[in-house]
Amino acid sequence: MKMDDNIKEVLIAEDEIQKKTKEVAQILSDEYRDKNPLVVGILKGALPFMADLIKEMDIFLEYDMMDVSSYGTAKASSGEVKIIKDLDSSVENRDVLIVEDIIDTGRTLKYLQDMLIRRNAKSVRFVTLLDKPSGRVTDLTVDWKCFNIPDEFVVGYGLDYRENYRNLPYVGILKEEVYY
Ligand code: 5GP
Ligand code: MG
Ligand code: MG
Repeated sequence: MKMDDNIKEVLIAEDEIQKKTKEVAQILSDEYRDKNPLVVGILKGALPFMADLIKEMDIFLEYDMMDVSSYGTAKASSGEVKIIKDLDSSVENRDVLIVEDIIDTGRTLKYLQDMLIRRNAKSVRFVTLLDKPSGRVTDLTVDWKCFNIPDEFVVGYGLDYRENYRNLPYVGILKEEVYY
């Protein structure tokens, strides 16, 4: 049984992701050169993208990971987010670059941005592999993105369905019969 067999359509191929990631990494390197940014990946989805991105950034930087979870549907509209793993170090006076796999409503990132600004970060900006602009319910500014996608559920390259498919090297759409 191969994971590929469960994919209906490859939305973004591996080589497209690699090429675009390099371009964005170059732009970020120019932006953050001599700022020693703190690059923060959001677990678990951002891990593959972040790993590829930072290897293409030829500047001094530090990185850390955060794990957050949104509250259930009842509280979802409040945009409240639970911190499961916080940052190891202070963000005071740091330029923070948050790395995400996908931005949909924008609630998670809006919450994090407000929190890190309250902790006196100098700047808090975002880079995401995927953006679903049609899902947005906040006024979040996405500073850098690799790809816009339509409002469809995607998996791969960090994105899961029931914790599987994160290790696919591309972004795809599952066959209907796979959902349970
Ligand atoms: P939001 O921007 O709505 O606060 O949260 C985005 C999060 O929702 C992502 O980090 C991801 O966990 C999840 N998400 C949104 N769209 C998709 C999708 O198409 N596929 C998968 N696997 N997760 C998604
Ligand atoms: Mg995520
Ligand atoms: Mg998920």
